[in-house]
Amino acid sequence: MKKALICLLVTAFFLAGCATPQQFERDDFCAAGTTLLDAHFDGGQLGDCTISETGDFELTLFPEDEPPINKSPWYAYRVSGQPGDQVTIRMKFHNGYARYWPKTSLDGNQWARVPADTVARTADDEMVVNLQLEQARIWVAGQEVLARDFYSQWIDRLEAQPGVDTRLVGKSVQGRPIILAETADRPEFILMMGRQHPPEVTGAIAMQSFIDTVLGDSDLAHRFRERFKLGIVPVMNPDGVAAGYWRHNVNGVDVNRDWGPFTQPESSSVIRWVQQQETEGRTLQLMLDFHSTFEDLFYTQPVSEDPPDFASIWLGASAQRLPDFPFKHAANPVSEQPNAKNYFYKSRGIPAVTYESGDETTREMLEYSATIFAEEMMKVMLATSP
Ligand SMILES: [Zn+2]
Repeated sequence: MKKALICLLVTAFFLAGCATPQQFERDDFCAAGTTLLDAHFDGGQLGDCTISETGDFELTLFPEDEPPINKSPWYAYRVSGQPGDQVTIRMKFHNGYARYWPKTSLDGNQWARVPADTVARTADDEMVVNLQLEQARIWVAGQEVLARDFYSQWIDRLEAQPGVDTRLVGKSVQGRPIILAETADRPEFILMMGRQHPPEVTGAIAMQSFIDTVLGDSDLAHRFRERFKLGIVPVMNPDGVAAGYWRHNVNGVDVNRDWGPFTQPESSSVIRWVQQQETEGRTLQLMLDFHSTFEDLFYTQPVSEDPPDFASIWLGASAQRLPDFPFKHAANPVSEQPNAKNYFYKSRGIPAVTYESGDETTREMLEYSATIFAEEMMKVMLATSP
């Protein structure tokens, strides 16, 4: 409310400004007694914080704008205080529900699910976390916070890899770089991208393992890169990741509904790179887009339309090697939705896949299965005729 009022006043005086779609009060910090909660880090989101009469923290977590919004109620904050302190945090998810089981970290890098007896889902849209501070500060978040540090380290690692170059292909609304890693020029190329949707962290974990495999030292990976050029965009929506958004970019647009319209700088940056490859005579043969949802799932084209029957062969061979990893293959009819999968299939006639990782799938299994999916993908692609 306060922000809306300030916007009205600013607009009245300057007839400008306040074009951002955020409509909700969000605090950067909140203190009670000797305890401080803050969201002063990339990916941090505390929502609106108040203190109850009993001294508990009460957070209302808001989406970045009003519906339509996917219900991915992100939260991430740091709790600082006296070691041994008991801290109670009640989180209420506005127009959402208690989706992500809380994770904590002592260093902001290594994360673990909080034990079941410290969390209560008190209503569909409410969760209470009781923490005892193990040290002077700990991090709490819906998923591991994989934000600026994670991506800059990943991009540095890609850059250091022989045969891989990273390049700036554009910038986000707020001017964060959109970085693409590419391998040597070949007549055929493949596009892989992640994190169009900010809270979809398990997709990022799977993607990193998948990319490590296709860029690895195995004979298979070498043969694969001999035939195909790879374009890899680890983070498509860096502004949304930084701000702790539930879904959108800073313009309030779902980047994965902008493939075709290309009204946003993030998707436009990547399609320009694709078009440049095509202008130089290369043919796009596959697009993989990494996301997260409630379960492990692949959205592909219907089998009858799937160009070289890529998905059923790929996922069938992977399933044989992953007996303990039940995943689904949703080969749904192609819809009008302007997501990356539909756009690349319709415009290029190539297999285009939304690779969805489960929210609470064990991270070891996400990583292991991604190596298998990557190996089987390479085999299927190498078996196609150029
Ligand atoms: Zn998504």
